[in-house]
Amino acid sequence: MLTIKDPEVLIVGAGPTGLMLACGLIRRGVSFRIIDKKQGLSTHVKASEVTPASLEIFEDYGIINDALSLGVKVSSFRMYAHGKPVWQGRYGEIDSPYRFQVHLGQPYTEQLLSGFLEKRRGQVEWETELISFKDLGKEVEAVIQLKDGSRETVRSCFLCACDGAGSRTRRQLNLKFEGHTYPADNLIGNVKMDWAEPSDEVYVFFSDSGEMTVNPLPDGYHQINGSFRLAKGSPSRKGPPATLADLQNLFDERSHIPARLSEPDRLSYYMNHHRAVTRQKVGRIFLLGDAAHIVSPNTGLGMNTGLQDAHNLSWKLHLVLSGKGRTSLLETYHEERHGILKSLGQLSDADEWLYLMENKVARELRNHVVTFLMRMDPVFRRQNAAIAQTDIHYRKSSIVRQEMSFPLHLPGGRHLVEQGSCPSAWFHFGEGPHAGDRASDVKPVIDAETDSFRLFDRLTHGKHTLLVFLSCSGPGKELAGELDRIATGIQGYYDDWIRVFWLAPGTSIPKGLPDYGTLLNDEKEQAHRRYGAQAECMYLIRPDKFIGFRSLPPSWQKLDGYLKESIFNE
Ligand SMILES: Cc1cc2nc3c(=O)[nH]c(=O)nc-3n(C[C@H](O)[C@H](O)[C@H](O)COP(=O)(O)OP(=O)(O)OC[C@H]3O[C@@H](n4cnc5c(N)ncnc54)[C@H](O)[C@@H]3O)c2cc1C
Repeated sequence: MLTIKDPEVLIVGAGPTGLMLACGLIRRGVSFRIIDKKQGLSTHVKASEVTPASLEIFEDYGIINDALSLGVKVSSFRMYAHGKPVWQGRYGEIDSPYRFQVHLGQPYTEQLLSGFLEKRRGQVEWETELISFKDLGKEVEAVIQLKDGSRETVRSCFLCACDGAGSRTRRQLNLKFEGHTYPADNLIGNVKMDWAEPSDEVYVFFSDSGEMTVNPLPDGYHQINGSFRLAKGSPSRKGPPATLADLQNLFDERSHIPARLSEPDRLSYYMNHHRAVTRQKVGRIFLLGDAAHIVSPNTGLGMNTGLQDAHNLSWKLHLVLSGKGRTSLLETYHEERHGILKSLGQLSDADEWLYLMENKVARELRNHVVTFLMRMDPVFRRQNAAIAQTDIHYRKSSIVRQEMSFPLHLPGGRHLVEQGSCPSAWFHFGEGPHAGDRASDVKPVIDAETDSFRLFDRLTHGKHTLLVFLSCSGPGKELAGELDRIATGIQGYYDDWIRVFWLAPGTSIPKGLPDYGTLLNDEKEQAHRRYGAQAECMYLIRPDKFIGFRSLPPSWQKLDGYLKESIFNE
């Protein structure tokens, strides 16, 4: 790839976050440069797991099969305290086609993303460091140091700081990184384990001296991680290298199941933090991933949150840089992503609090409370959704909207549902996913050309998707006119940006549909049920698979108003 002298976007940092952003931009044809001061992809022991929400992003980029074949699918976990089981369970009903975590290890995750990039002739400029930058209002001027030691000035429309927890960009912006460091040392290492336990489960051991987790990894490795609470004022062990004997001692002390550890890979001591910036966008500079927020690795969500920052930003940058999107779209990156940090931080603090309890009575109580709470279905489901990240939503975002006028009569007084009532249609619609929620997958849906497929298969084109749910009776006269207005409006103004699907229940082929768009049959009406579509309604799904807009009944005027006020330039 030729280096673009003045790219539209300069990405600083090629960890998982920077690579994900580069993938999002290259697939959309946005010009960028991605630089990293390291020599190449990470080889360090860091993030082990990829959550279901991130797996959905991998599906969107067509790298899911590689992730699944390289990684270990983990769908159950065991928790022990002093050799006794506290909880043993499976990740339950998650609203995702991926009802498991994939333990991949950060180096493999980065390889998958850089593979996507290289296939499209994108590449990272390694050993290239951001030295300083100036936001000039209309552009950003950055000074970078190249591999040969020479310096270059790069002008770009935006600078995306994906430069990790020690972010130089954040420091130069004088942004506070507010939060705290947890009072514990942690010992981590990847090792081979000779033990008789299944190698596709996560293990948590509570002991008097602290907690320890064992996570499966590819190639027969496990990641072992244990914490040592630090007494007030005592120094951290961070610094001197850890040894296999240290890890074996930790394991023997905390696990009642014997195992011999061998073939250590990158052992280290480190400390955990929970910190975040107050702004993830300052002028033309965006902060993503660890540069903007860090949480305890015990949550397993740090890297995943960075991947999702990038997924949220790439489509917005594309729209704005193409001139089609409203510049105000870019402000919603901070609004939406910063909005999720509170609950992430709470999870981080709760995990560390549970793991670092000092008092013996409190620890005993914890073990009973965990057992009790995890047996309660609603608590278990909530916890599950939090660690799968399927509970993330942007309902309060300024660029999501839903329209459910009441009473729900169509013009001319006709009811929405031929054999039902308007309140019933309204009630069902209320049960469907709200604007700002993640779109739900369903299967099978059928179209004339391909055979059955999942709804998500039709959402992987990186653009907006309009799903118009039809009823069994087909559109009446008034509604047929409205569908025509929708088709003509999208074709006229948003043809390259929004794909339209008409979803008919069962196997019916409704008469009077516009020629524009694609007819799909929701054979078993699962999509209609999942989306609360008892009557005709529509959902606009954003490129990141969150619901931007929905309305009952479909209305071109309302959709167009939303698009013009929130997403597109007039
Ligand atoms: C022990 C441990 C275990 C973890 N386990 C998990 C887990 O299971 N799941 C999970 O989701 N997360 C986990 N995490 C967190 C995860 O590793 C991080 O959240 C993730 O690496 C963040 O990715 P990033 O791309 O934002 O930053 P980084 O991975 O830190 O990448 C930043 C990049 O920027 C480059 N850079 C920095 N400054 C400059 C500069 N001036 N110029 C050019 N390049 C620069 C660096 O060289 C680096 O490559 C763990 C972390 C640790 C420490």
